[in-house]
Amino acid sequence: MAAALESPLAEVADWLRQSRSTVVLTGAGISTESGIPDFRGPNGLWTRNPGAEKAATLQNYLADREVRVRAWRSRVEHGLWTEAEPNGGHLAIAALERKGRLDLLITQNIDSLHLKAGNSLERMVEIHGNLREYVCMQCGDRGPIERVLERVRAGEDDPPCRRCGGILKSATISFGQNLVAADYARSEAAAARCELFLAIGTSLTVYPVAYLPEVALRNGARLVIINAQETPYDGLAHALIREQIGQVLPRIVAAV
Ligand code: NAD
Repeated sequence: MAAALESPLAEVADWLRQSRSTVVLTGAGISTESGIPDFRGPNGLWTRNPGAEKAATLQNYLADREVRVRAWRSRVEHGLWTEAEPNGGHLAIAALERKGRLDLLITQNIDSLHLKAGNSLERMVEIHGNLREYVCMQCGDRGPIERVLERVRAGEDDPPCRRCGGILKSATISFGQNLVAADYARSEAAAARCELFLAIGTSLTVYPVAYLPEVALRNGARLVIINAQETPYDGLAHALIREQIGQVLPRIVAAV
């Protein structure tokens, strides 16, 4: 028999059972146990290299060919995290959907690990885009990113759009780039109607996504935070679990 859950894990499992609408927001922290570094955790990409934040802004990408060359080279050399596998945290959220307990999963991650774990795109918003596709910044043409990577491997260091000659980029939202309005609207509506909002593995510092817990709280939802480090919402959370996601989330979901 499974060991009984201690508080506050048992309390969160109870809330999950009772909630008629649960929204889960995830950030880079859910993927660190799959070997993908986050930005602001102790081994985060930006904690170790603060200059990288600048290179990730849209204006620099559009204005500076060298930034694009480096970006494509790094995609080819370091891969797209395609070898990464979902961990217990991703699998628990997929189980939550299978159990009919998930209204919407909003992820800030671009690594597709929720999809790989079994969550469906019908109940998911990839609010910062994804790395599976490319997009033309001029005409909006989209397609599998592998098509562009093949051209980079064949010697084009900054491949232009084949339709209009425009600048190509991975279909991710860079800093300084607007979110897809429909994605944010869908996320905000779900946050406003939910009874339970779980923020998992996110520092809750990237806006406008970081407004979503506030929208949920304002509309009477309970807020649960599962994150190893402090967030600006800790004082407002109904439950705060500062442990490794892959260890606690599967136990909570198994009890639902
Ligand atoms: P963040 O780096 O700002 O914060 C991640 C948080 O997760 C940190 O507070 C850290 O303490 C916590 N954390 C890390 N590993 C954990 C674990 N195993 N258990 C519990 N907590 C853990 O991440 P963010 O809030 O998502 O914002 C960063 C932005 O960077 C996002 O917009 C996202 O799009 C992007 N990003 C995505 C990926 C990815 O797709 N995997 C990776 C890096 C950055």
